[in-house]
Amino acid sequence: MRIAIVHRDRCHPRKCGTECIIYCPRVRTGDETVVIGEDGKAFISEELCVGCGICVKKCPFEALDIVSLPEELEHPTHRYGENGFALYGLPAPTEGKVTGILGPNGIGKSTAVKILSGQLKPNLGFFEREIAWEEILKKYAGTELFEYLNTISQKKLKVAVKPQYIDYIPKVFSGTPRELLKSTDERGALASCIEALNVTPILENDISTLSGGELQRVAIAACLARDADFYFLDEITPFLDIYQRMAAANLIRELALRRPIVIVEHDLAILDMLADTVHVAYGKPAAFGVITQPKGVRVGINQYLEGFLPEENVRFRDHPVLFEKRAHAAGSDRATLLEFPPMKKTFDQFSLEITGGSIRAGEVLGVLGANGIGKSTFARLLAGAEEPDGGPITLSSRVSYKPQYIKAPSSDTVEFYLRSCTTTFDTSLYQHDIIEPLSLRPLLQSPLDTLSGGELQRVAIAACLSRPADLYILDEPSAHLDVEQRVKITRMFRHHVDGRDAAILVIDHDIYLVDMISERILVFDGTPGVHGEATGPFDMREGMNRFLSRLGITFRRDKTGRPRINKPGSYLDRDQRANGEYYYYTDKEMGE
Ligand code: ADP
Ligand code: ADP
Ligand code: MG
Repeated sequence: MRIAIVHRDRCHPRKCGTECIIYCPRVRTGDETVVIGEDGKAFISEELCVGCGICVKKCPFEALDIVSLPEELEHPTHRYGENGFALYGLPAPTEGKVTGILGPNGIGKSTAVKILSGQLKPNLGFFEREIAWEEILKKYAGTELFEYLNTISQKKLKVAVKPQYIDYIPKVFSGTPRELLKSTDERGALASCIEALNVTPILENDISTLSGGELQRVAIAACLARDADFYFLDEITPFLDIYQRMAAANLIRELALRRPIVIVEHDLAILDMLADTVHVAYGKPAAFGVITQPKGVRVGINQYLEGFLPEENVRFRDHPVLFEKRAHAAGSDRATLLEFPPMKKTFDQFSLEITGGSIRAGEVLGVLGANGIGKSTFARLLAGAEEPDGGPITLSSRVSYKPQYIKAPSSDTVEFYLRSCTTTFDTSLYQHDIIEPLSLRPLLQSPLDTLSGGELQRVAIAACLSRPADLYILDEPSAHLDVEQRVKITRMFRHHVDGRDAAILVIDHDIYLVDMISERILVFDGTPGVHGEATGPFDMREGMNRFLSRLGITFRRDKTGRPRINKPGSYLDRDQRANGEYYYYTDKEMGE
């Protein structure tokens, strides 16, 4: 089975030499295998195409894909027309459970949810004719989805959705969170949602003035307060700190006791505590996606990190992602790269105090702390974008800084911009170390101001790492990145400073990411919005214990070395608290 995909947004026949047509061997022998369709985009006849792949290589905009699929994937669940995205499989929402979907963006998660909510009738890959529900049901006879699809064939199910992108909310609604939330109170749970998500202090503010994290919490409350047949949450963690992530996760678990919930989440520590089962989604983003049968959450996440799905016999990544089993002790013999002095910074409402410290050559330093506690201010002080009380400091090192909130610096193309950051753009090393892991090649000709949040983030990370510097500071690089991209930056960061006289400082709330990249950590403490104190750097064990004891959560490690959040009040949770071991604890008895 072979499918041909035209990425319509990247196909510009008026700007190229229609290489896909000119070089197609079938066209040369007189067939109409590739033509320009009525809509002005390339059209590939899947019947005539022999799959040589020449058009894919010749297209200057990387707009084409020809994919050979394994035998088992003969029948898609849905296809967006010939040359469109194909989805295989479907997740199964289950009463009383949280079902996770784990996979990259563009793999068909939202498409699957549109089908499950009855907004999209699956066409089983037949787009020339109308498909009857009888035919669809026949295909699913005897599967766990049959009953579910039978219900949506008769009526639409009511689904409450927390969409992935929340920045559109202020564009379609003007008023206060109180006004927005009023109409969502369908099951008498609004007050408790507002309370749990700490929305009360901002209820009377203007929606257009809310920060990303505030908007996210309002959006989650609006979804969970509804009375629906099933709930779909497309990422809950963006802009939230780990305290807020835990609060949202607990609220969702409570609702799940009574209602089916489907969730997409790229923060794996949170997905792990939230979901009962996960469907792994793999394939080729924007070309095809396969949603596996449900797997237990522990096994599913471990298979995902391993990059291999034994039941499906599919390897989708050529390397596993590993957690180090013991407390990271590496690098204690490293030389000091730079010392930062004790500093204070006072704003009208907020003050920050930093005990001085040192950063070592070749290390990745993680930074943990709540929102509004001064992490970005600290980064700006080191980067020289802000002066501490009492005058500027001079660091002996050059700093390259990626701010938390990024705006397109111009309407130049990505390539033009990156060339302005480095003289090594044309080297194979640069392509291999920066362009490839961030999947930037298809974006190189795009103007910066047309990029999505995730695309802009990847370009900003590339730009930061491209500049010559001794210290690289990345403020929340995981924001807007999917799980697979997070995996890639993890490797990239460590590799970037390995063996060099340079260091990276990464501020992030994704605890797996921080755990995987960091050699030591800096911990922020205090009262958000009022006062912050930065201490450290500590080695991982001490730093994590400090941070997590404040947070009041403990982690155990499974046999792969992956940290997992303990159930509050469980035997391990109580035992570890009593021993002050919040993070490095290998659970032998449970055989994990
Ligand atoms: P995810 O939720 O995993 O990010 P989506 O289900 O939103 O993925 O999209 C998967 C692919 O389907 C994308 O390449 C997208 O461009 C394509 N797609 C989504 N909706 C449509 C549509 N209505 N028509 C054609 N293609 C679509
Ligand atoms: P974090 O990165 O930990 O979320 P920030 O460093 O961004 O925290 O902010 C800490 C506090 O300092 C917040 O309460 C914020 O409102 C305040 N703050 C940051 N920059 C300024 C500024 N330029 N003027 C006034 N207050 C500021
Ligand atoms: Mg910040």
